[in-house]
Formats: sequence, C-alpha cells, structure tokens
Amino acid sequence: MTTSNSELPVNFVQSIITEDLKTGKNNSRVHTRFPPEPNGYLHIGHAKSICLNFGLARANGGITNLRFDDTNPSKEEVEYVDSIKADVHWLGFDWDDRMYYASDYFEQLYQFAVQLIKAGKAYICDLSAEEIRAYRGTLTEAGKESPYRSRPIEENLDLFERMRAGEFPDGSRVLRAKIDMASPNLNMRDPVIYRILRATHHRTGDKWCIYPMYDYAHPLSDALESITHSVCTLEFADHRPLYDWVLDNVDYHIVEGVEGRPRQIEFARLNLNYTVMSKRKLRELVEGGYVNGWDDPRMPTISGLRRRGYTPEAIRDFCERIGVAKRDSVVDIGLLEHCVREDLNRRALRAMAVLRPLKVVIDNYPEGQVEWLDAENNPEDPIAGTRKIPFSREIYIEQEDFMEDPPRKFYRLAPDREVRLKSAYIIKCEKVIKDEKTGDIIELHCTYDPDSKSGGATAGRKVKGTSHWVSAPHAVPAEIRLYDNLFSSENPDDDEDGLDYKAKLNPDSREVLTSSMVEPGLAEAKPGDRFQFLRQGYFCVDLDSSTEKLVFNRIVSLRDTWAKLQKSKVKQK
Ligand code: ATP
Ligand code: MG
Repeated sequence: MTTSNSELPVNFVQSIITEDLKTGKNNSRVHTRFPPEPNGYLHIGHAKSICLNFGLARANGGITNLRFDDTNPSKEEVEYVDSIKADVHWLGFDWDDRMYYASDYFEQLYQFAVQLIKAGKAYICDLSAEEIRAYRGTLTEAGKESPYRSRPIEENLDLFERMRAGEFPDGSRVLRAKIDMASPNLNMRDPVIYRILRATHHRTGDKWCIYPMYDYAHPLSDALESITHSVCTLEFADHRPLYDWVLDNVDYHIVEGVEGRPRQIEFARLNLNYTVMSKRKLRELVEGGYVNGWDDPRMPTISGLRRRGYTPEAIRDFCERIGVAKRDSVVDIGLLEHCVREDLNRRALRAMAVLRPLKVVIDNYPEGQVEWLDAENNPEDPIAGTRKIPFSREIYIEQEDFMEDPPRKFYRLAPDREVRLKSAYIIKCEKVIKDEKTGDIIELHCTYDPDSKSGGATAGRKVKGTSHWVSAPHAVPAEIRLYDNLFSSENPDDDEDGLDYKAKLNPDSREVLTSSMVEPGLAEAKPGDRFQFLRQGYFCVDLDSSTEKLVFNRIVSLRDTWAKLQKSKVKQK
C-alpha cells in the first residue's frame, strides 16, 4: 500500500475520488451513504463499511448519510433501527441531520416507475414466480420473453395503479423493467422492480401493498440524496449494469434539489475466521438461544464487541489495517484482538485479580499488620501514576502459579522455591496443606523476605518468577467470564463437510468463574471500565455488574498470537 502526502493510505476507492475531484465531477462534491437494512444488529463487517463510507467523506471534505434500506417490510423492526444508530455513533461517526429511510421515497419511486411505463421501459407481467424463473434462462442459455412483454402502455399504467390500489392478490403480478432477455447478465433479463406484498411496514404501516425491489430502489435512493460515490460489497458488481440502467432511464433530476449522478463502487467484504457474519445466521443464533442475545460478548456484532469491552478506537484501527481490496479474503480474528491489545496496552489501568484463588499464609508476617504498597497504574503511560494496594499475612495467588512437582521451566512457586509477589515481597513456599479426603491443595504456608520490597536491602534480589496476588481480607469477590471463539471451526460457513454452521459452535466458548478475587480498588468499577489484570489479559466490567456482585468480561488474554505470527514470518524471510 502506498501512502499519499497526508497520513491517509490510498485505497482504490480513494483513488477514484481523487480523480473525480480533479475532473470536477459532481461539482467536486463527495457524498457517501451507509445503507443498512434494519433486519438485524450491525456486525464487524458493517464496521468496515461504516469506517469506509464515513472515513472517505471525512478525508475528502464530504458528508455521509445514514439511510435505512427498508424496502423489505416483513423483516424490519424498530429495535434494529435504534441499535444501528447507537452503534454508528459509538464507532465515532455522525450523520448530522441526514438520516433517511428508503421508505420515505416510496411515493417518488412509484412515480418514477410510472415514468418508465410511459416510456415503454417497464411492463406488468402476470407470470408466476416459477414461470419467471424458468423464462429467465441460464448463464449459457438466453431467456425467453414474457408473453406480457408487449402489453400496451395504457394497460400497464392501469394495472400498475390497480396493483397499488390493492385489487390483486399477493404475487399475482409484478412490474418488470423491459431490458434484454438475451443479456449475458441475468440481472438484466427484465428484472422485477415491483411486487405485490401485503405486509405491515414498520414506518408506512399498511399504506402500501406493492414494494419496490432493492435493485430498483437503491440507485434511485442514492440519486435522490445526491450521493456521489455509492460504495457496496463485491456481490453487487453483477448488479452494476442494472444500477446504471435505472439511473440512465429514470429522469430523477426533475426532483428539486437533486444533483449529480451516483456511481457504484464495489469492495471486498470483510470475512473473519472462526466467525459467521451473515445477519440471518446471527439472528438464528440469537433466536435459537445459542447465545445470550445480540450483545452476547462472543458475538461479532458491534454491540457484542462493545459489551465484551472492545473500544471504538481499536475497531477503527482494525478497519484501517485490513484495508480495502477488490478481492475477497478471510482476515485472522487474531488481528482484531491484536488491535484491542495495542489500544488497551496504552490506556488500561493495571490491576491485580486472581481468577482461581489459592490461599497463602505468610507465617513470619505479623498477624494483624497491613501495609499499603505502591503499585504502578500503567508502565506504558508516564502520567498514570501509582496506587496503594494492601498487603497482609494472608493472600491469594493463582492456583496455576503453584506446582507441587514442577516440570523444568516452571518458574513460579513450588515447595522450597521462591517467587516475587508483584509490587511486594519475595516469598518462599514452606508447606503445602491438602484436603485430607480429596488430596486437593487448599493452602500454602510461606515465609517472606522482609527486606525484599521496593527500597529494602534485598529489593534487587533476582528470583525467576513474579506472581500476581491479592490480600485475602481486603479482596473483593468477583465473577469473571472468559471467552473463546464462538466457533471451533476456522470457517463455519463452509458446508463441504455437510455440517450446518451451528454444529460447529465451540462448546467451550464461555467459562464463568464465580470465586475470583480482585484488588479492593475495583469495588467501585462501573460497567464499561476496562483494566489489564496482570498476566491475565484485558477485562471490562459487564452490564450485569452491580455493587452486590462485580462481573468482568475478559476482552482478550495477553498472548498475542497475531503479533507472534508476524514476527516468525519476518524471521523466515
Ligand atoms: P448480511 O449479509 O450480513 O445480512 P447485508 O449486506 O445484507 O449483510 P446490509 O444491512 O444490507 O447487510 O449492509 C449495509 C452495508 O454494509 C452494505 O453497504 C453492505 O455492503 C455492508 N456490509 C455488509 N456486510 C459487510 C461485510 N462483511 N464487510 C463489509 N461491508 C459489509
Ligand atoms: Mg443487504
């Protein structure tokens, strides 16, 4: 990727815009739109489209509309509209006063269709849906003209009006564009542009019983909003000739205020491994109870990522890094996780939390004594400062930080071995207490080196391992939710194995720890607050959290598989 004079990496859409600005096309305006269909919550793929559309406008002195593409009445709901607005704002973008609905244009689109009929470019067809499909032909075979294709204009006008008036049953007739049944492009073989459908629309109610098709409504909605660059995903490339046909054959400039002509530009959609990204599938996961709602922290939805603790900055950074291509590819989910680590490493306050506690009694530490030790808030941020954490005779360490019979290269606590407690003392394990019945280790007895804390005579003494800990009498209990990929298969959409994507859900994608202990300063943490728990990863206070019960989501662990992979790639070169 090359870089222009500014910090903007040049993608091919930007190159088109740069050229258009140079030639003064559309009076050198840049006006984009983000056109979600309100039939589900937005996902990380939409974030790419949002960053691209709003980003291009922002970088070129232009503006962006939010347009709900609500031409399909049966599936759309107000809940989705509200969630989409919240998600776009949260990502850091704003449409000002330019929020529109394709349904706002229903009357105008109807009038445009009348225009097409009058010009002999559209006709009412009485073939059934199956017949239309059969007449359409195949990629290797030309289509067959409908017997209704040469219906007189007057008859078409009359029937279209009566379709609107509700005189005919659903599916009995359609309006088709009269283009070319022999076109090599199937989309151009007299596509349906209006259908009869009795369904209550979330905005227009029962006012309409005919609805325009996407391929007809979309270019005209763009035109009515004076959009200049209509960016969409690759699967619409084959529809571009129809997009252009509609704009060439409808005189939309008769509408006051409309200027310029939109151009459709396709880019590769975002695919992520270990994820599904179709709204239909995501809705199925929600409605089938496979996840706990659209904002389940395992979901690739914007609301799921937000609840999990992802930052808008990290998501925007991710969208920038993946770039804009003309060829489909699959992005490693590790890159998304890498972006949130990078962001939070700079910003998140450090804290100590013990996920699976093991009690440690420090026998030579005075009973009843409490020391308040200084701990660094963020070594990456010079102004983050320090905080006080309590140390006492009884502490918790992580169960996995002790091994009775350690293998080589285990550098944490073991019988007769020492470990440094982060921001505190060096301790040595003297005795292991086990449950008589189960044999489980339930408590360790240690001694500490009183001179080993910061400023002490042996502060610099080297021991191999450092462990995080919390003071037992001061610690606050917390519930900690750990997550793994929602799917155990790298490409759950791949149906070559004959398995439905739902069969590839990861049964271990969510683990809830109910006896974790966190340092006392976290008692006041509010939903949305993010921390790095030493050695455990980045965590975010969940919406379910309250003063009675603290709940954290793990956003990501600290192990950066993506960065590691990049390093080994560099080495190989
Ligand atoms: P889905 O297939 O998930 O239902 P969609 O394309 O039907 O998605 P829309 O609401 O129509 O969803 O999408 C709004 C905009 O977001 C469109 O311009 C679409 O091209 C874009 N978009 C959707 N999915 C992706 C993706 N995975 N990557 C990039 N852009 C996307
Ligand atoms: Mg769509």
